[in-house]
Amino acid sequence: MAEEVVNPMDICPAQTKKLRACIACGLVKTSQQFVENGCENCEEFLGLKGNPEGVETCTSGNFHGIIALIEPGDSWVARAKRLGEVTGSLADDAVKELPEPIRQRYLAEQQQAE
Ligand SMILES: [Zn+2]
Repeated sequence: MAEEVVNPMDICPAQTKKLRACIACGLVKTSQQFVENGCENCEEFLGLKGNPEGVETCTSGNFHGIIALIEPGDSWVARAKRLGEVTGSLADDAVKELPEPIRQRYLAEQQQAE
């Protein structure tokens, strides 16, 4: 992903009600934040920015715990939970199941990148 300067306040949930978790990476924000900025981790293939329908499809309100991750590289929680390189608030038990067409596109892109 291209290096971009991200305002941390755009990644943190703006409120604690009506939060949604990205079903690809578990990033937790409000629907509005997803529509305004997309998912900072998955925007390249989810394209949620300015796409309320996509946000509805690719995020889920069905999760319980939230993990706030500030420095993913130094975090043993990130390693233990295999959260990878993402920064922000993450759902502990998000569904992480992409709709089939998006999953296919993602897999195709992964193969191209290799
Ligand atoms: Zn995501």
